[in-house]
Amino acid sequence: MWRVRDTVTPVSPAESTVPKTIICVDCGGTCHLLSYEPDEGFEPGDIVAFRCADCLDRWDIELAAEDLDPRAGSGD
Ligand SMILES: [Zn+2]
Repeated sequence: MWRVRDTVTPVSPAESTVPKTIICVDCGGTCHLLSYEPDEGFEPGDIVAFRCADCLDRWDIELAAEDLDPRAGSGD
């Protein structure tokens, strides 16, 4: 039997903490995620775009490490 050594730590897509929707700060409507998550997942510094369904404003959010790993922040 072949044994392939797995040197890559698997990251489940379910671990992603980038929300599919955010609340529009202008009108309180729902902004839907426009960006597709890359196969390797989002990284800090990536820009993700949201479009508000109500006022059609576009929001570009730069991801910070805390956005991707809640444990990196202390909460609060
Ligand atoms: Zn809006």
